[in-house]
Amino acid sequence: MEKQVDVSVVIPLYNEEENVTKLYTELHSVLHNKDFSYEILFVNDGSSDKTGQIVDKIIEQDSHVTIVNFRKNFGQTAAMSAGFDYACGEVIITMDGDLQNDPADIPELLENINEGYDVVAGWRHKRQDSFFSRRLPSLIANKVISVITGVHLHDYGCTLKAFKKEVTDNIKLYGEMHRFIPAIASAMGVSIAEIKVNHRPRLYGTSKYGISRTFRVILDLITVKFLLSYSNRPIHVFGLIGMGSFSFGTIIAAILIFQRQIYDIPLGDRPLFLLAILFLFMGIQFITFGLMSELQIRTYHESQNKPIYFVKDVRRKE
Ligand code: UDP
Ligand code: MG
Repeated sequence: MEKQVDVSVVIPLYNEEENVTKLYTELHSVLHNKDFSYEILFVNDGSSDKTGQIVDKIIEQDSHVTIVNFRKNFGQTAAMSAGFDYACGEVIITMDGDLQNDPADIPELLENINEGYDVVAGWRHKRQDSFFSRRLPSLIANKVISVITGVHLHDYGCTLKAFKKEVTDNIKLYGEMHRFIPAIASAMGVSIAEIKVNHRPRLYGTSKYGISRTFRVILDLITVKFLLSYSNRPIHVFGLIGMGSFSFGTIIAAILIFQRQIYDIPLGDRPLFLLAILFLFMGIQFITFGLMSELQIRTYHESQNKPIYFVKDVRRKE
C-alpha cells in the first residue's frame, strides 16, 4: 500500500532537539486545513540528543508526520537523498530543521510549482548569518557556481526549495551535492524559478558546518561541471587535453630533431627534450584515460538502463 499525498516536506535533522517542536508547530499551522494533502518527513541523521524521541511524541499525535532514523550520521546530503526516496508527495519541499527557513514561505513555493515550474529555489536575500565566515564565501561561491553551471540563481545554498517528484526521482546525490540539485536537474531540462524567502538567525543548537565547507563545495562543483558537460562524452575532454599535449610535445621534439640534423646541435644535453617527452607521454596517457572513461560511462548507463535523455511526453494523433 503506497501512501499518496500532494506535498511532502522533507527535513534533515541532526541534533536539533531545541528546534524541532517549534518547527513542527509552525509547519502544522501553515499546512493544515489547506486544499492539499501533505506529510512532514523528518530524516534523523544520527542525532545523539533527544531529537528522535521528541519526533516520536509528535508522531503519536499527528499522522501526517513520519521519521526516518539513520543508524549513524551520514550527512545532510544523504539525509535529503533518503527524504527523496521515502517521500510520497507529488511535490517535495526541502528545508532546514534549525528554524532558519520559514515555513510561511511554503505556500508561495507551491504557487510557483502550480504555475508550472519544476524547481523553485529560495533566495535568502536578507541572510542572517555572520558576514566573514558565511555570507562572503557564499557570495563568491554563488557567482562562481552560476557562471560554471550555467544555472543562474542568487543563492544555491538555501535548503528551502520545492521540486516536482519527477525531478527528485531522477537525480542521485553524492558527496555534499544537495546545493547543486538545481544544476544537476538542469541536465534533464527543467524550468527553475527563484523566489525571495525569509531567513532567520539560528536561535538554538549550533551550525554543523565551518569555513572548510568552501573547499568541499569547490570540489563538488568540479564534479558537477564535469558531469553536466561531459558525462556522455568523457573522451572529448580528456582526449582534447591529450591531443593538445601530444601536439605540443611533437612540435618541440620536431624542432629539436631538426636542429640536431641540420645544425648539428647535440640532443642529449637539452632540457627541452625532456619536456617534449613529458608532453608526448602525457598526451598518450590522457587519450587512454579518455578511452577508459568511455568504457566506464557505458557501464554506468547500460547496467542501470539509464537513458542519456529525458522525455517530457510523447504525442501522437489519436
Ligand atoms: N544536518 C544534517 N546532518 C548533518 C549536518 C546538518 O541533517 O550532518 C541538518 C541540520 O540539522 C539542519 C540542516 O542540515 O537541519 C542545515 O544544517 P546547519 O543549520 O548546521 O547548516 P547552516 O545553516 O549553518 O548552513
Ligand atoms: Mg542553519
